[in-house]
Amino acid sequence: MELPFAESYKIKMVEPIRRSTREEREEWLKEAYYNLFNLRAEYVYIDLLTDSGTGAMSDRQWSAMMLGDESYAGASSYLKMKAVIKELFGFNDFLPTHQGRAAENVLFSLLVKNGDIVPGNSHFDTTKGHIEFRHAHAVDCTIDEAFHPTEFHPFKGNLDLNKLENVFKKYPIEKIPFVVVTLTCNTSGGQPVSMQNLKEVYALAKKYGTRVIFDSARFAENAYFIKTREEGYQDKTIKEIVKEMYSYADGMTMSSKKDAIVNMGGFIGFRERKMYEEASVYNIMFEGFVTYGGMSGRDMNALTQGLLEGTEFDYLETRIKQVAYLGDQLKTYGVPMLEPFGGHAIFLNAKEFLPQIPKEEYIAQKLATEIYLEGGVRAVEIGTMLADRDPDTRENRYPELEMVRLAIPRRVYTNSHMDYVAATIANVFERRNEIKRGYKILREPPIMRHFTVELETL
Ligand SMILES: *Cc1c(COP(=O)(O)O)cnc(C)c1O
Repeated sequence: MELPFAESYKIKMVEPIRRSTREEREEWLKEAYYNLFNLRAEYVYIDLLTDSGTGAMSDRQWSAMMLGDESYAGASSYLKMKAVIKELFGFNDFLPTHQGRAAENVLFSLLVKNGDIVPGNSHFDTTKGHIEFRHAHAVDCTIDEAFHPTEFHPFKGNLDLNKLENVFKKYPIEKIPFVVVTLTCNTSGGQPVSMQNLKEVYALAKKYGTRVIFDSARFAENAYFIKTREEGYQDKTIKEIVKEMYSYADGMTMSSKKDAIVNMGGFIGFRERKMYEEASVYNIMFEGFVTYGGMSGRDMNALTQGLLEGTEFDYLETRIKQVAYLGDQLKTYGVPMLEPFGGHAIFLNAKEFLPQIPKEEYIAQKLATEIYLEGGVRAVEIGTMLADRDPDTRENRYPELEMVRLAIPRRVYTNSHMDYVAATIANVFERRNEIKRGYKILREPPIMRHFTVELETL
């Protein structure tokens, strides 16, 4: 018989997790004001809140940590990281930062000014936060297919070139410091961007005279989809594909907590020496000296090794097939989801799951909390709560899709855990008609409210 697919690693160290009762979870959720970010992690059985910084490092990463060079300046750990960034992305210069949003803070301090316009494909929340914090505007140019939950398109993260060109025509180009391309497109469901689209976006940006920056957290997963879905890339290695992808970028911000499989870390990659030099000033102010930028030597070593492992096909295949394994099971239960499945997560379509809840009552937030109550599984809302208020009118922004994201940490859970998650959600789906009301907001901060918002039941 044909041998089945199996994971490309085995387990050397384990961490116990504890199940809880429904009564306990009801109490804990109430104490957390119905915000899953406020829960203690020990109150969660399977934690799919995020795949950010939650991955399991390999034996090679742990051993690389022991070789960390903690010199303040010019450490070998920094030089190794520089060499691997050059090898993978083709950028000569880089700045280490403590995580992805710190990379955005440093780079945007240099490039984004009051009143600027930053087009992109469904900007990530911290990216949008850093744009709006500077009184600039993010303009979404994602293709319309991305907003049709089940329409098949192999690259739903693509930018619509007409929408992008309209932005270029509508505003003076000096007001558009760069286009940000998010790989994969997290906000629209972990959906990839095709090589063809990257190439065309870059050509259009150059025609009008602006830059392209890749928001790169899941660049390797994006490359996996190019290899498995796009004509002409089947025989190329992931590393070759990554190299070509970045030939269509002027720079990158990276949250290494995703595809570099470390618990903390980030960096900025630069094509232009001058931009690197100017950004260095902000890096020194906000992060640390240019050769460590908020990271210790051992952490840079683990990150460098993680970049190499994260761009291996076998690892990516194991990861992305596990996500699809969960998605396929939910599909047999009839649960409404976004398709095709994303690279790092399954996205539940909350509006279809709970059509009886009005949008003013935070549909996806309600669904996420019901999943927690059912089985101790923690997911995250990607809906009105995350979309936040319009900075000018302060009205809620209601996104086209209300989603609950089940993000799968890298190399952490087994497929039995996925079976458990699928059964938990199937149970909620079975009793969905008994769920009548959502939430109202008790307290919220002025920006990025989803992290700390407090809610009450209706
Ligand atoms: C996680 C993420 C960021 C921010 O990175 P942090 O390391 O969490 O600060 C930015 N963009 C995308 C697409 C991300 O997924």
